[in-house]
Amino acid sequence: MLDLKEQLKLKSFVFKHKYGQNFLTDANLLKAIVSDANINENDNVLEIGAGAGTLTKYILERTKSKVVAIEIDKTLQPILEENLKQTSVQLEFCDFLRIKPEQIKKWFNGEKFKVVANLPYYISTPILFYLIDNQLPVESITVMLQFELAQRLSAKPETKDYGALTVLLNIISDVSLTRKVSKKLFLPEPKVDSAVVNIKFDFNKFDVDFNMISRFVKNCFMMRRKTLINNIISTYDITREEVKNIFNKLNIGENARAESLTATQFVELFNSFTSIKKL
Ligand code: SAM
Repeated sequence: MLDLKEQLKLKSFVFKHKYGQNFLTDANLLKAIVSDANINENDNVLEIGAGAGTLTKYILERTKSKVVAIEIDKTLQPILEENLKQTSVQLEFCDFLRIKPEQIKKWFNGEKFKVVANLPYYISTPILFYLIDNQLPVESITVMLQFELAQRLSAKPETKDYGALTVLLNIISDVSLTRKVSKKLFLPEPKVDSAVVNIKFDFNKFDVDFNMISRFVKNCFMMRRKTLINNIISTYDITREEVKNIFNKLNIGENARAESLTATQFVELFNSFTSIKKL
C-alpha cells in the first residue's frame, strides 16, 4: 500500500493552507483519537474535514452505524474515494458552516451522534459554536485543536484563556484535554502544537434555556476590559442599581469582570436577571 505522501503526489494533490490542511498519518495517534472519542459499534459519527480519510478509516473500524464525513475541498474526492472504497461512509463535499442544521439531523434520522475530527484551525471556534448553538443531538465532540484553543476550552476562571466559549461549554458539558500532540506528527507540519479535547454533553447539568443564556454570556464578555456591570447596563434595559442589587444578593463584587465568574455563577446571575427583566 502507498504511503500518504506518495499517494497525494501521484494524484497531483496540492495542500491548501487556506483550508487548514494538515493531515495525520500516524496510526497510533489516529487510534488514540478514536479511543478518546469512545466510539462503540452503535454510535453514529460526524467527521468535519475528512482530508485524505486517514482518521475516517479508524472511525469506520469502530462503528457499524452511520458515518458522515464532510470535506470542503473537491480535489480530495478521488483520494477519499480510493482510500474509503468498500466502506459505508457517506461523503459530503461542502462547507460545513453552510450546512443547515436540519440537513445534519436528516443524515442521522434525528438520532444522536458523536463528532470526531482533526479540525481546520482557521474555523475551529465557529465550528464549535455552530455545534453547541444549533441544538443538534450531539453526544460528544472529540477534536484536535490548536493547543492554545484547547487550553482556552479547559481554562479556569480568572485566567486570560477563560472566555464565553469556556463558560458555555461548562454549562452544558464536561471538557477534558486528553492529549497534547506534537506538530511533527502532521503533514505538512504546522507552526504550533495541538491537543485533543473531549467534550461530553450533559444538557441537564443546569435547568436553563441554553439559547437565552448563550446570548447573555456572550454579551457579558463583549468588552473584556469593561466591568461586568458596565457590559450589562450597556446591553440591557436595566439600571446600575438593579444590577448592583442582584450582584449583592449573589455575593458578586461590584467590580467583577466576566472572566471571574464560574459557570454556576453565570447561571445564578442569568436566573436572577430573568426573574426581574425580559432579556
Ligand atoms: N481529517 C484529516 C486528517 O486528520 O488528516 C484532515 C484534517 S485537516 C486539519 C482539516 C480538513 O478540513 C482539510 O481537509 C480541509 O480541506 C477541511 N476543511 C477546511 N475547511 C472546511 C469547511 N469549511 N468545511 C469542511 N471541511 C473543511
